[in-house]
Amino acid sequence: MTTLRNLPSIEQLLQTETTAQFIARFGRPLTLDALRQTLDDIRARFKLNPEAGVPSTEAILTQAESTLTAWTTSTLHPVINATGVILHTNLGRAPMSDATIHAMDLVSRSYSNLEFDLETGKRGSRLIHAESILQKLTGAEAALVVNNCASAVLLTLSALANKKRVVIARSQLVEIGGGFRVPDVMKQSGAKLVEVGTTNKVRTADYAAEFEEPTALVMRAHRSNFKIVGFTEEPNFKDIVDAAHKAGVPVVDDLGSGALYDTAKYGFSHEPTVQESMQAGADVILFSGDKLLGGPQAGIIIGRKALLDKIKKHPLARAVRADKACLAGLSATLTHYLKDEAEREIPILKMMSLTLKQVQGRAEAWRAALGQGVVIEGRSTVGGGSLPEESIPTYLLELQVKSADKFLRALRRNSPPIIARTENDKVLLDPRTVLPEQEGALLVGLKNCLKP
Ligand SMILES: *Cc1c(COP(=O)(O)O)cnc(C)c1O
Repeated sequence: MTTLRNLPSIEQLLQTETTAQFIARFGRPLTLDALRQTLDDIRARFKLNPEAGVPSTEAILTQAESTLTAWTTSTLHPVINATGVILHTNLGRAPMSDATIHAMDLVSRSYSNLEFDLETGKRGSRLIHAESILQKLTGAEAALVVNNCASAVLLTLSALANKKRVVIARSQLVEIGGGFRVPDVMKQSGAKLVEVGTTNKVRTADYAAEFEEPTALVMRAHRSNFKIVGFTEEPNFKDIVDAAHKAGVPVVDDLGSGALYDTAKYGFSHEPTVQESMQAGADVILFSGDKLLGGPQAGIIIGRKALLDKIKKHPLARAVRADKACLAGLSATLTHYLKDEAEREIPILKMMSLTLKQVQGRAEAWRAALGQGVVIEGRSTVGGGSLPEESIPTYLLELQVKSADKFLRALRRNSPPIIARTENDKVLLDPRTVLPEQEGALLVGLKNCLKP
């Protein structure tokens, strides 16, 4: 039987060829750390159970290697999204286009003219890079890009309505997700919240009645993730804007998802677009970069120059500014819209525009490759706080397994992890959200998990 005296020392372990390889791969300090931790661990286990003896040098080194691998592997890595939820917030929302990734890569690798005016050789502004393309695309007078839409809301309200009244419909005082509650953000900005209407009904006159007192803004917040149905009433946005403008009050529209195209084209219901908000006369419009736009995480603020100037000057603007990779990536994504190639280039738009026949073809090909399962009709959804309850038809590969939950867990442990869903103890895989370049890895992973 072995005892602690048989345990090799760090010095002895350092003589081995395997440890030399660890040092080459992970560096000397980390390797030493891992060897020490492994030996400590073995000593502790030995004290609890001396009968088991001490492991071989080979087993010790294997344990040290898994520790080193765990320490140096990022916890954030790609997964395969087979859920059919196109903008899955928990799975990182929108995958980006090749041109977007390329643009982010280029400015990240080298120096750039981020805040440098190449004409004059003097200091420039990082704000101009996405501004011109946003002006061209939307017709807005001015634009600003910040970290995300939540910070766009906070910044806009802080800059335009601190200690002043902001009128908003009670039905729009929503929680968007991740603890982002419209009333809390308004309070944080210092704005004085003035609720109008009831939970289900609000009329233009409710707004107009509030304009008798000095009012900084009217705000509309898109309800994003829920619907009010039944005995409800809400005026046209244009009517609210007209009433506000008559009283000299500007209107801020938090669109959230901010589509530049009509989602009805893909079989979903209509989501308010940026262009419609512009046409209705909104003075400032806020939307996300990584929802229906399909680009990097960003908060986009467009609107009238006088208001945007105030927003740009507020101290919070510096605190929530977008970084160079975001600005480069966002410009590349917006360029797809400008060139009318969004549907061909932007992954989430490609997913939405897949025909049923194409989805069915992929599901059938998966079934053939696996030699099992059935292809059934199902629904894909948008998710990401856009188009609540909305879905479009799809085809799913349905797999019959012993335990659906255990199978899902095995899929999550695959490398790369595969995320699927279950219904009635069957596993469902939606080809719509699986990127074509991930299909090979998906089938390998599925085959491994299906092995008896
Ligand atoms: C999603 C959403 C936000 C927050 O956007 P992020 O980019 O996730 O910060 C704000 N307002 C509305 C209406 C939204 O739907």
